[in-house]
Amino acid sequence: MNKIQIEDKEFEILIQNDNIAKRTRLIGIQINVDYEDRCPIFIGVLNGSFLFMADLLKEINISCEIGFIKVSSYQGTESSGNIRETLGLPNDLKDRDVILVEDIVDTGFTLSYILSEVYKQNPASVKVCSLLLKPTALKSPIDELEYVGFEIANEFVVGYGLDYNGLGRNLNDIYRAKSVAPLLP
Ligand code: 5GP
Repeated sequence: MNKIQIEDKEFEILIQNDNIAKRTRLIGIQINVDYEDRCPIFIGVLNGSFLFMADLLKEINISCEIGFIKVSSYQGTESSGNIRETLGLPNDLKDRDVILVEDIVDTGFTLSYILSEVYKQNPASVKVCSLLLKPTALKSPIDELEYVGFEIANEFVVGYGLDYNGLGRNLNDIYRAKSVAPLLP
């Protein structure tokens, strides 16, 4: 399926699932090496990370813990920069190696907020693994962003966990919103 329609919006294929799987495997191998003999806690940021988190963790063969948190910040296709709250953050992160798992980093507001919450507990280390990154949308550099699946342009994407108005998270591949052609005079 190269093109799909969700409600009023047309999307076209951007990243196929086999490429996501290959990249996820490589990231998993890297994390296994980097965290050998440590016992990190992976914290997935819901809802968008649920598929990536599951596929990534299948590649992890070191001892580890897994948790999920939820933040609310995004409606429609534009980042509001308005983070309301973090739900479910474990409260025993002191001296732990934390790996936050994100679906996508856009402006970076959400991630910066989550990082500030995690640091309050004095963890031993914090790194971020994000499937997607929009480098040109990022408002300020995030040092903890260690593992990135794909860098993409500043456009709205859907599928493989990512939604458009609640729809499309179940799609196997990642699609980008088709840009509307300018009207000819
Ligand atoms: P940020 O705070 O970095 O601007 O946005 C982070 C969150 O906004 C992501 O976790 C994701 O939920 C949502 N988001 C950002 N860009 C996109 C996008 O292109 N598509 C979808 N579906 N969600 C996005």
